[in-house]
Amino acid sequence: MDSANVEEQGTIDIDKMRAGTCGRCHMLVARYAPQVIASNGIYHRECYEAWYFGRYGRRPALSAGTNGDRHRFTVREPKAA
Ligand SMILES: [Zn+2]
Repeated sequence: MDSANVEEQGTIDIDKMRAGTCGRCHMLVARYAPQVIASNGIYHRECYEAWYFGRYGRRPALSAGTNGDRHRFTVREPKAA
């Protein structure tokens, strides 16, 4: 099977996606940098907090990941108020 080649190329793409660029400053987000995984993209944690604070006037409720993903935060979306 030639799926091995496809898999190898796919891995590179996935890594790029995982690294990604920040939705706010458009700089690369290092794999182990504190980062926020939002529904519409990935952000540096600092960038996300700054953006969120500017928009909502308070800090976002972030949940850290577990184990190896402690640098990776997800957003607890506020209930529609
Ligand atoms: Zn950023």
